[in-house]
Amino acid sequence: MQIFKEKEALKKQIKALKNDKKTIGFVPTMGALHEGHLSLVEQALKTCDKVVVSIFVNPTQFDNPEDLQKYPRTLEKDVEQIKELSEEVIIFSPPASEMYGDSVTSEEFSFDGLEHQMEGKFRKGHFNGVGTIVKKLFEMVEPDKAFFGEKDYQQLQIIKKLVEKQNLNVEVIGCPIHREANGLARSSRNERLSPLERQTAAFIYQILKQVKEDFGTKSAKEINDWVLAQFESQPALNLEYFEIANADSLVSIEEEDRIQKYRAFIAAYSGDIRLIDNIALN
Ligand code: AMP
Repeated sequence: MQIFKEKEALKKQIKALKNDKKTIGFVPTMGALHEGHLSLVEQALKTCDKVVVSIFVNPTQFDNPEDLQKYPRTLEKDVEQIKELSEEVIIFSPPASEMYGDSVTSEEFSFDGLEHQMEGKFRKGHFNGVGTIVKKLFEMVEPDKAFFGEKDYQQLQIIKKLVEKQNLNVEVIGCPIHREANGLARSSRNERLSPLERQTAAFIYQILKQVKEDFGTKSAKEINDWVLAQFESQPALNLEYFEIANADSLVSIEEEDRIQKYRAFIAAYSGDIRLIDNIALN
């Protein structure tokens, strides 16, 4: 296993791998690695000769300075976990100056409207930050395949759109959501929950599972009203949004057109910790 902090050293290694005709998989992360991240790395290792895992808490995608400041950073532990997994992984863990120089700003993107739905409404500038860092990382890593979790389903769709619009030569692969034993979607932010909060937060997945069951028989309006009532009766969690949306366009469901693919999405706060989750409905 190799660790690089400097982009020039990484690029040199990538060039050597390309000369050797090795295929490169890429898993971008913000660290505080958990089994969800590791499942992406495992999937990448199955189909690529080498896998680059970036660990970088990207400042431009945080709309909330306190969230950025409190984001868990556990590099040593992350390295240990990757080491246990495979020798074929390269960790890229740059300081912000390597990625941004002295101008920590985002490029402006259009993702054909995907960026205005859900997370885009509540996290201003978030997807410009995501697009900026992923584009920079793709340029450095030059991956054949890049692996993203369906946990951040809107982000996955946005990255696919980025690749399409910028004509990037990389295959984007979506990977299933990894959950804790109680159903809570794994997230680095879960580390900040108390044991009780972590148990209570499993409520989000319970709601999503019931929504999936009801989707075949109830109207979207009925389901929406039911979800709002459930969160009203759960004061430990503060619902930011519930949305049933088209799985491709992410546009909110209007008519009951069950030929299209839909997903349900939730963002909710446990105290000051923001949690998101989603589920395929049909
Ligand atoms: P993050 O470190 O939160 O930016 O996540 C890095 C990558 O891991 C993203 O593609 C996430 O969607 C993915 N990821 C995070 N949590 C999970 C999970 N519970 N299951 C699957 N993928 C995940």
